[in-house]
Order: sequence, then C-alpha cells, then structure tokens
Amino acid sequence: MPSTDPAASRACRVRVRGVHKAYRMGARDVHALRGVDLDIEGPGFHAIMGPSGSGKSTLLHLLAGLDAADKGEIEVGGASLAGLSEHELTLHRRRRSGVVFQGFNLLPTLNALENVTLPATLDGRAHADAAPRAEELLRELGLGDRMDHRPDALSGGEQQRVAIARALLQEPPVLLADEPTGNLDSQTSDRLWRLLAEIAGHRNMLVLMVTHEPHAAVHCSQVHVLQDGRVAGSLSVDAMDPSQLAVRVADTLRASR
Ligand code: ADP
Repeated sequence: MPSTDPAASRACRVRVRGVHKAYRMGARDVHALRGVDLDIEGPGFHAIMGPSGSGKSTLLHLLAGLDAADKGEIEVGGASLAGLSEHELTLHRRRRSGVVFQGFNLLPTLNALENVTLPATLDGRAHADAAPRAEELLRELGLGDRMDHRPDALSGGEQQRVAIARALLQEPPVLLADEPTGNLDSQTSDRLWRLLAEIAGHRNMLVLMVTHEPHAAVHCSQVHVLQDGRVAGSLSVDAMDPSQLAVRVADTLRASR
C-alpha cells in the first residue's frame, strides 16, 4: 500500500554536507571520504556508483549510522546523525533507515519470521505484536510459505527478501542497500532490483543502493558517482541500457578528474 502519510514523504531525504572519513591503518590514515556533498530528496530509487575504493560502502555505512563521520553533516530520514551517541545511532538504524547488505546478515538460529521481527523485539516490542505486520510483508515479498524456514533452508534470493522485509518492518522513510545482489545469480538479481524499484514507488520510500553494476543502476532514476571520496557528479537514468549507463558513468568520472 502506498504511504499516505505526508510526514513520511517529507522525511524521504538524505543530505550530506562536507563529510570526511579516514581509517587509521598502522601509522597512516586512509582517507575514504574527502568532502562528500549529496542531496537526495525522495521518494525514489537511487544508486551510488564509482570505482572500487572510491568510498561507496563507507558512505553507506555512515548513512546507516554504523559508523560516525570525522567531519561534516549527515541527515537521513529527517534526523541529523551528528553527535548522536552509540545508543541513539542504534535507534536510528532500527527506526529511520532500513539496511540491506550483500551478505543478508540473518541470524541462522531464527526462522524467517523471527528474523523479520527482530528489530522490533530489540526495540522492546513483543514478537506477537510485530508478527502480523512481518507476516504481511513476507507474504507481499512472495515468502508466505517460507516463514518458518531458517536461513539455511532458503535460497540466496529468498534470504535477501527476508532481509528486505526486516528492513521494511519499522516503515523507515529511507532504505539503504549495499551491493544487495553481490551474492546472487543474474536472474535473481534482476528480480531483486525490480523489487527495490517497486518498493520505492509503491511505499513512497527513498531507496539508496550502492552498486558497481550498470545492470542494477538502470532500474534507478538517478546515479550518484563517487570518485576518490567525493561525488564526481549525478546523472539521470532515463531509458538507458546498461552499456549506455556505463559510458555515462565513465564520462562523469573522466570529466571530474
Ligand atoms: P568502495 O565501497 O567504493 O569500494 P570503501 O568505502 O569500501 O570503497 O573504501 C574506501 C577506502 O577506504 C578504500 O581505500 C578502503 O581500502 C578504505 N577502507 C574502507 N574500510 C576500511 C577499514 N575498515 N579500515 C581501513 N581502511 C578502510
């Protein structure tokens, strides 16, 4: 069902200003992000692309509140992440942004339904309260007959759909996905990209996906290209095929060097 809550649609926003992030490696700092500026006003399906090591995952981790920026401002889903404590960042992850990873990150001892209700139960809600919505989501994602299966009894595509249901449970305005199809075959990947596009459209959400795959990014409306820890440019994906998109991304990278 499309969200009719105007507040939810207002919060479909990611705003990044002057963000820097370095990692300490022995005696030296690796500068993963060197002043990222990015404004995305949702709802919609957006991609972050760029060469390996350009800072895509680091940026996504900061947006998810999994790590803190050294400098700069980050606002996700209407909330500023600057200066939040660990506990507050945890609440942000549970309530304002859903995150989907390449490795699915499901708990092996819990079945699909329990995995989906986990963020709610960690947030203090009873499993029984969260279960009806979780069951509805699993059914919507085509997993109605898989609810009591543990992850090892599910295919990769099914596991990723469980992870998506888990990310959607708290109805966050922003869904973040880091190479969500990295472990899936091409047919399953294609179904998943279509599903993410559908989620953005039908649920009035901002879905932001890190990918190196032009085949994935053609499902998006906009691609934001990272290079050397900065945004090199953003481009609209308008009826492009993957090879045209790859050329446009390469052009964007070349122009910003
Ligand atoms: P991408 O996702 O575009 O491949 P990353 O964000 O993973 O890029 O990495 C950006 C840079 O930061 C790379 O040089 C990478 O080696 C470095 N980096 C990322 N995470 C860490 C870490 N935990 N410790 C040290 N260096 C890291």
